[in-house]
Amino acid sequence: GRSVHQIQSGQVISDGLCSAVKELVENSIDANATAIEIRFKNHGLDLIEVSDNGLGISPENFDKLALKHYTSKLRSYEDLERVTTYGFRGEALSSLCALSNLWVTTATADVAPKGTKCEFHISGALKSTSVASHPRGTTVSVETLFRNLPVRKQELERNIKREFARVVSFLQAYAIVCIGVKFTVYNHPPNGKKILLFSTKANKTTKENIANVFGARALANLIPLDLDFQMNTPTSVLHRGREETRNVKIVGHISRPVFGDGRQAPDRQLFFVNSRPCNLPQVARAVNEVYKSFNLTQSPFVFADLQLDTTAYDVNVSPDKRTILLHDQASLLESLKVSLTKLFDGTDQ
Ligand code: ADP
Ligand code: MG
Repeated sequence: GRSVHQIQSGQVISDGLCSAVKELVENSIDANATAIEIRFKNHGLDLIEVSDNGLGISPENFDKLALKHYTSKLRSYEDLERVTTYGFRGEALSSLCALSNLWVTTATADVAPKGTKCEFHISGALKSTSVASHPRGTTVSVETLFRNLPVRKQELERNIKREFARVVSFLQAYAIVCIGVKFTVYNHPPNGKKILLFSTKANKTTKENIANVFGARALANLIPLDLDFQMNTPTSVLHRGREETRNVKIVGHISRPVFGDGRQAPDRQLFFVNSRPCNLPQVARAVNEVYKSFNLTQSPFVFADLQLDTTAYDVNVSPDKRTILLHDQASLLESLKVSLTKLFDGTDQ
């Protein structure tokens, strides 16, 4: 029968392939990796593997890794309010363990290249360890995701093309926003050679990352987005009624509205809040609305990171942290439209 743990795990990994990959990549980023390689076998249906050159995991933590609510990241209640690392709930490895065949190979600097392969029971308890060579860092392998949730598995198989495309675009988003991190993404189809999907260098700017991910042509007509404005927002529920002035920065790149043809930049729109990829449909709509008043025929390429005070939004609203609740969104959107209009007014058409 299906355990409560499996059902809850299915909710943590709510967005299938995307959630799984996101959690693994965020763990690598949290471990200070400067190189992350993501390998899929059969678009992730058979295997998802994420390797990093981060800090690695020390032996005293092997038995806790895949236990529910184990995290090495959360230090105090303060941290919950101001989450700086991506992960903080200690649920990803435990959930993936319940939903797949998961193993972790890792080495810290002092032992590399003599690493350890850890295998786990479905409950998350450590099953066995063995010696395995590994440079400093960690590889997490997720074999046959949803192997024990047949309906989710069939759903994933049915939609794999679309799901995989979403995963790749989400990985592109990370590869662009992460400065100084080299990303490499491969897929190994069942009957063929492995295919490089994209790779970046450990660049110093997001612009170089964009060129690596989308090709140098993507930079044509891009202008820097660097909006800085004040907005009044209520402080928090605890200070109901009081208002506070906050500084909001939106940094990134956007297509300059140009007349005529020539869509040089891909019309991708990547939004982030404090460097986390997020779905922000209302922000996207506001940007497109302003852009449309300058250029009726195209929508812009946008890469925008909203740098907000961590008390200006909620990330805890869903098991999948991508859903973000911006407090006082209306005022943010108004300020955004005004400053974006100014930016476009000031650029040569
Ligand atoms: P969380 O990220 O919320 O702490 P996870 O279930 O994602 O929870 O991971 C559990 C723990 O496993 C992390 O807190 C971390 O200590 C360790 N871990 C997972 N992936 C890595 C990695 N790539 N490098 C180093 N440590 C890792
Ligand atoms: Mg995590």
